[in-house]
Amino acid sequence: MFKTNYHSHSSFCDGKSSMEEILLAAIDRGFTHWGVSSHAPVPFENKFAIKPERVQEYLLEFKRLKDIYSDRIHLYLGMEIDFITDMMENIREQSKDYGLDYFIGSVHQVKEHNDSLDSWFIDGHDPDIYDRELKELFDNDIRRACEAFFTQQIRMLEINTPDVLGHCDKITMHNKGRYFTNETPWYEEMVRELIDIVKKNDTIVEVNTRGLYKKRHTDFYPSVKWLEILKEKNIKITISTDCHKADETDLFYQEALDTIKTIGFTHLSYFEGEWKEQRID
Ligand SMILES: [Zn+2]
Ligand SMILES: [Zn+2]
Repeated sequence: MFKTNYHSHSSFCDGKSSMEEILLAAIDRGFTHWGVSSHAPVPFENKFAIKPERVQEYLLEFKRLKDIYSDRIHLYLGMEIDFITDMMENIREQSKDYGLDYFIGSVHQVKEHNDSLDSWFIDGHDPDIYDRELKELFDNDIRRACEAFFTQQIRMLEINTPDVLGHCDKITMHNKGRYFTNETPWYEEMVRELIDIVKKNDTIVEVNTRGLYKKRHTDFYPSVKWLEILKEKNIKITISTDCHKADETDLFYQEALDTIKTIGFTHLSYFEGEWKEQRID
């Protein structure tokens, strides 16, 4: 079986190891296929994405490493591109401009369709930002905020569906069961609607392990509950570690594999010039 991961960061964005250090760790841990996916530039001041003026360097460094290591591992060039309502929507075009092999589409900044430039940051290490911006931007109306999050992902899938949908229920991370749970009826309905659109657009969903090894969450993204529905609907999946440093390259990879097998998945998507399916035994 191929051991693959297409979601990896490095010091080009908010990662803590160089692209080469990450790659060497991946080879060391037996990965056969690897994709680099730094956060694509976004049109506002931030600490997590590649600076626009460093994109060329990112592309060149990938090419340099590919030349050196391609006899040991299949290497692919990607990015994790933010989809932000009214602000950053042409993500497929962006990926073409960079000449990427594939891209992951993710929502980290939740924004309603309105005139404001403000968005709700649902990621990062600080739950206070989550709480503060929920209050400031959504008047603490969690249902309205979740609606914006899922509407944003649905819009991304409908107008510029990515190769891989990134951590599609990350909105639960700082929630920690305080505002809603996976059993809250309106929340469950929103997730199910998203899953229907994923199916319609034949988008691959990642099973992201980062919340588990960072101990910020007690489940994969998406939760096992949603993975069971993905299985029912025969939706394609891939395992992502979303690593930001060398020693994170394969954390909870085996657990993810065991879990999806238990749920009943028999195949995993992998990229090798195009997206294909491999049997998992
Ligand atoms: Zn992400
Ligand atoms: Zn990521």
